Amino acid sequence: MSSIEYRSLSGQSPQTDFRTAVLRGLAPDKSLYFPTEIPKISADFWKALPGLSPVEIGLELMAPLVAGSLENSALQQILNDTLSFDFPLVAVGEHCYSLELFHGPTMAFKDVGARFMAGCLEEFNRGAQKKTTVLVATSGDTGGAVARGFLGVEGVEVVILYPRDKVSDIQERQLTTLGKNIKALRVEGDFDACQHMVKEVFLDPELSALTLTSANSINVARWMPQLLYYVLAYRSYLKMYNKSQANSRNELPEPVFSVPSGNFGNICAGILAHKMGLPAAHFVAATNSNDTVPRYLATGKYVPHKTQPTISNAMDVSDPSNWVRINELFHGDLEAVREKISAFRFTDAQTRQAMQEVAKASGYICDPHGAVGFLGLQAALKAKEITLTASTPGIFLETAHPIKFRPEVEKTLGINLEIPPQISAVMKGKKEFDSIDTYGQLREFLLTSS
Ligand SMILES: *Cc1c(COP(=O)(O)O)cnc(C)c1O
Repeated sequence: MSSIEYRSLSGQSPQTDFRTAVLRGLAPDKSLYFPTEIPKISADFWKALPGLSPVEIGLELMAPLVAGSLENSALQQILNDTLSFDFPLVAVGEHCYSLELFHGPTMAFKDVGARFMAGCLEEFNRGAQKKTTVLVATSGDTGGAVARGFLGVEGVEVVILYPRDKVSDIQERQLTTLGKNIKALRVEGDFDACQHMVKEVFLDPELSALTLTSANSINVARWMPQLLYYVLAYRSYLKMYNKSQANSRNELPEPVFSVPSGNFGNICAGILAHKMGLPAAHFVAATNSNDTVPRYLATGKYVPHKTQPTISNAMDVSDPSNWVRINELFHGDLEAVREKISAFRFTDAQTRQAMQEVAKASGYICDPHGAVGFLGLQAALKAKEITLTASTPGIFLETAHPIKFRPEVEKTLGINLEIPPQISAVMKGKKEFDSIDTYGQLREFLLTSS
């Protein structure tokens, strides 16, 4: 197998291997890494999918992307840990399914990328003299997933910056109660202020002696493994389809995937899977009122507005960092993007209404992000005149468990949610964090703690 390299998207830095791309996070020219080649997976593999285990599927798809940096045995071990929970496909209507990505330890889909990246860093740091500091800014879910994924990983210290009073109580507990190699910094400011401080660290010559990387979805080890659950969803669907068809028709079903999107890493991973051969009729990018991408697809002009707070706060992003990767997957051809991706924006009022309608019609409880995904699917069906059938099912991604947005879900639906064990465990912990409000304090913290 020829090994795939990673190039920076602005082309100002040399190509490098997977390992170096992961350890750096961003390329030296501050742009994102992208594979030099998209591996094509054979048609036979897609047909054989129902008979393969999740780890076998992971090996087939990820091995070419990490070749030269991870032995198959190491990759297998990382995948065992990454794919250790279920990704069920749950029917919520005729030919309409919710892909539940919240059965991991922090109950958000970010567990997948965070665990995969933690496994990679553990492997790459084996025997290293210096410890690596993983820096991450979070608007809520990333911090918890990264904290949990990296807990106890040798040679790695995690520093999480989160905005004071802008994350939910459960989210704050997930970042601040673990201890060990996880440090939380509460920032006086909003998420943009946190992200700004993190960027400054990477540009700061006084900190250049530290080994630093970032665990946001700019890191290829966090971004790419997200392609796996699109394939697992397809596998679940093929199993159902084969059973109900009970014939040997050769054509494969092509689902429509609707993805609630913020930084666009998740949907970009789905499109990567598609480019590797996953059958998919269409993708829908569903956003809240932070609608830079829907406006871009409509007008051809990319104009971020100021970020607005919404009830689907993990998607409150107005300048999505992964959009450049999607653009690259289509070789910069906007018409080709429009052919394959539709984008729609929804208000909080529409989101609440969708949560109520889905609950009434099927008894299914969506969190606000999943509800935006559901709305995106409905809108695309109308606009594109697609009809859902057994060979074109609709799948929306349910990116977080409703409990993570408990007050909103309980109020909107007039119900009480049960607290799952993953959450009751963190409710008992004591919150520990340092407070900072300037970049100087962050620098001081990094210099004294390493
Ligand atoms: C992060 C997040 C999203 C947005 O995912 P992107 O990859 O940033 O587009 C959607 N829903 C939830 C619950 C999230 O935590």
